[in-house]
Amino acid sequence: MSAAGAGGEVGGRPRTAPGLVVRGALAVRTGPGAVEGEPGGDVVVGADGRVVRVGPSAGPVAGGLAGGVEELDATGCVVTPGLVNAHHHLFQTAFRTLPGTRGVLMREWLGLMAAAYARARVDAELVGLAARAGLAEALLSGVTTVADHHLTWPAVLSTAETVDLARAAAGAADELGARLVLVRGSAGDDAEAAASSADAIAAALVGDAPGGVRADGRVQVAVGPAGVHSDGEQTFRLLGEVAARRGLRRRTQANEQVDVVAALERYGRRPLDLLDEWGWLAPDVTVAHLCDVTDDEIARLAASGASATHAPGCDVPMGWGVAPVARLLAAGITVGLGTSGGGSNDAGHLLADARLAMQVSALVGRQLTARELLDAAGAGSADGLGRPELGRLEPGSAGDLCVWDVSGVADAGVADPVAGLLWAAPGRRPRHVVVGGRVVVRDGRLVTADESDIARGLSRRLAGVAA
Ligand SMILES: [Zn+2]
Repeated sequence: MSAAGAGGEVGGRPRTAPGLVVRGALAVRTGPGAVEGEPGGDVVVGADGRVVRVGPSAGPVAGGLAGGVEELDATGCVVTPGLVNAHHHLFQTAFRTLPGTRGVLMREWLGLMAAAYARARVDAELVGLAARAGLAEALLSGVTTVADHHLTWPAVLSTAETVDLARAAAGAADELGARLVLVRGSAGDDAEAAASSADAIAAALVGDAPGGVRADGRVQVAVGPAGVHSDGEQTFRLLGEVAARRGLRRRTQANEQVDVVAALERYGRRPLDLLDEWGWLAPDVTVAHLCDVTDDEIARLAASGASATHAPGCDVPMGWGVAPVARLLAAGITVGLGTSGGGSNDAGHLLADARLAMQVSALVGRQLTARELLDAAGAGSADGLGRPELGRLEPGSAGDLCVWDVSGVADAGVADPVAGLLWAAPGRRPRHVVVGGRVVVRDGRLVTADESDIARGLSRRLAGVAA
């Protein structure tokens, strides 16, 4: 449903007292059901952090606080929902441009990364510092929710120590004001240890909250083996049992170079055959990457109700493949967008990857539009997480939004400012970012922490390792 002009008002009075008004936007992209032409205007977020109204502007911008309501000037700007990065490995933020990791097969890359993790000593401090940097980068580039598929859980850690790692990532999100989905992954971990850890992490971070989402909506827990190349049936089954018992979403990766090769070598099967057999093709499962998929596999995925995450910013530069997104969408599969981790992508800038996805799409099928990719990076990602309140700006949606200034020279002459978000100005950053009605980036700067302090903190720890 479209929100523009819908109001979300009863008898002309807002249901919820407004907390924030984004005033005078040139255009507002509300999500997949947007009104043609995306009329501009105001976005009103209630004091409860949810969108109250999207529609025609109610007046001039006062700026700052007016009558207890915060106002953000969006003149000359496009407003979109906050972006949802459906697939990140935040820990890899500490391992970008690692020597030897470019132009290599994925199998070799995995070995190089594992060796680097071992050298760096994985502990809660490093996980927290990497998450802090990765989440700050996310917010500064318009990403308000990050699904962190954390795959690095050294076997020497006790269950309680794995909970400390998860708490470190969640603590960084709470400090910075981002939403985090902590995916307790596994990359060849002992199956029972991984399941106990996942259970303990869910208990510690979200308790018995429905869907594994903390009551305030800011932290979610999910489970996810790295793929059939790293983990066997027992890990998929035991993590699946934890998910079923606690109502958590399930996430994995499939059909990305080494995954297909390893499945054939080890089982004489294709990865999706194994996932199907192990009970991992279902509506609560999201599969990342999917570079090498046949028409039959696409039909099977669609019939299962599983969703997909496209991660071109990892797979294209590494030469590991390109997911055929147009064919996935045509089959009715929900497709989200992720950056994947810093070890292969080196950046956590989801809008840049939406641009890349658009640019390479015609090489693997149909040219995707900017709006299709904006929606993948919003509602598509959110739906795979079981979070229909995210990635949209409709009455009742979470008040997560970005204000993109399109008044500069890089957008001059752009006929369609919404499409221009992707086609023009690569690497653009939003002027303001709001999460749950709270401004977390203002005029391009983090509100909640000092950006250079975050970068220095990670650098110092990494330098200590090298010394
Ligand atoms: Zn990945």
